[in-house]
Amino acid sequence: MAIRRVAVVGGGINGLAVARQMLLDHPGIALTVFEKEEAVARHQSSHNSGVVHAGLYYEPGGLKARLCTRGAQLVRSYCAENDLPFDECGKVVVALGAEEIPRLEAIFAKATANGVPDVRLIGPEELREIEPNSVGIRALHSPHTAIVSYGAIAGKIAEEVIRRGGIIRTSAAVTRLDERPQGVFVMGRDGAFDDRPFDLVVTCSGLQSDRLAEASGDEADPRIVPFFGQYYVIDPAFRSHVRGLIYPVPDPKFPFLGVHFTKRIDGEMTIGPNAFISFGRENYSGRAVDLRDVLDFATYPGLWKFAARNGAATLRELKTVMSAKVFVGEAAKYVPSLAAVGVKPAVRGIRAQAMTRDGRLVDDFVIRRRGRVTHIRNAPSPGATSSLAIAEYIVREVLALE
Ligand SMILES: Cc1cc2nc3c(=O)[nH]c(=O)nc-3n(C[C@H](O)[C@H](O)[C@H](O)COP(=O)(O)OP(=O)(O)OC[C@H]3O[C@@H](n4cnc5c(N)ncnc54)[C@H](O)[C@@H]3O)c2cc1C
Repeated sequence: MAIRRVAVVGGGINGLAVARQMLLDHPGIALTVFEKEEAVARHQSSHNSGVVHAGLYYEPGGLKARLCTRGAQLVRSYCAENDLPFDECGKVVVALGAEEIPRLEAIFAKATANGVPDVRLIGPEELREIEPNSVGIRALHSPHTAIVSYGAIAGKIAEEVIRRGGIIRTSAAVTRLDERPQGVFVMGRDGAFDDRPFDLVVTCSGLQSDRLAEASGDEADPRIVPFFGQYYVIDPAFRSHVRGLIYPVPDPKFPFLGVHFTKRIDGEMTIGPNAFISFGRENYSGRAVDLRDVLDFATYPGLWKFAARNGAATLRELKTVMSAKVFVGEAAKYVPSLAAVGVKPAVRGIRAQAMTRDGRLVDDFVIRRRGRVTHIRNAPSPGATSSLAIAEYIVREVLALE
């Protein structure tokens, strides 16, 4: 099949990276990105922790493990080549109690298997040399974990897509993809956006990915269940209490990384994100309720099975949602000098996390091809770190264009 026209749905960092890779590898292709917002990267790609993950936690052999380690290298080079800020501030994962040590060692084993460079298990003295205000009985140090602005990177990739001849159509919400023998029609509310069909389409639509996939004939499962993550910015006078990134040992039963200290590329120090169900997939203020989104998850059996299995963790997260003091208290277990620090709420992020009908959060990336259409069905963290590698994988292996 001769490939001349390709469409990408979604102008977040993954869609833009796929568009760029397609134009790099196949410069003659006519490529269009369809983005529903007025500008690119308005959702997850600009509402995240900004961490370039080194690949510590992911199951060896899985897509996350492979694409995160490769993606981290690619993000580093992309920032260097494009004069974008990249701060290799390093990260420690800290165990406070003896019961956490086996889990910390398991992370170390995974990191080693994933080829993460220079990770080490360290004792309390060395922890204090790296993070003088942090307490803990043991820690894992990942010196090459870094911070960036993924919003800025996405903006730069969008410029490159246009420079290489791609078209980015904003305010273009795709309702479904209509696959016919002659190609795929990209449909909006008023019919096809283009009279001519596309030879291939890749959807990278984040929080809406399950809906677009299902409307286009893909399976209904897994569903996106939106989990928001709240952040607080600490009083600038206390920024120097933390040098880089300080994380807890994640709770194995709860698939998020836990409230942590994250330095931001603009110099601010943040605490967060927690993880709790969001009453809207794009409800950043937290004040509105999107009935369709709520009905979607409330009627999904998977959510209730998940909630029943994760009662304790859900309650812990709820407490951090209800009280900034509890939130700060959770983080201050790792840096006691910040127990009474003043904080201001920052804009939350909302994770496009896929869940199965039996209440399991889908851990690995899910990228599915059916005929001419490929859907990213799950690309939560470290999806931004991995974006340039996800793009290589889709263009070179999933589509395998000659
Ligand atoms: C709180 C939080 C913290 C995170 N921290 C990190 C981190 O530190 N490091 C890391 O690597 N990752 C992190 N992530 C994950 C990372 O942000 C995501 O994996 C990544 O941004 C996903 O990019 P995307 O392009 O797939 O999705 P998005 O950025 O959500 O983009 C999807 C795009 O598709 C568009 N779209 C949706 N539906 C349609 C439609 N029907 N028609 C047209 N356009 C459509 C949307 O408007 C949007 O622009 C975090 C995420 C969150 C929420």
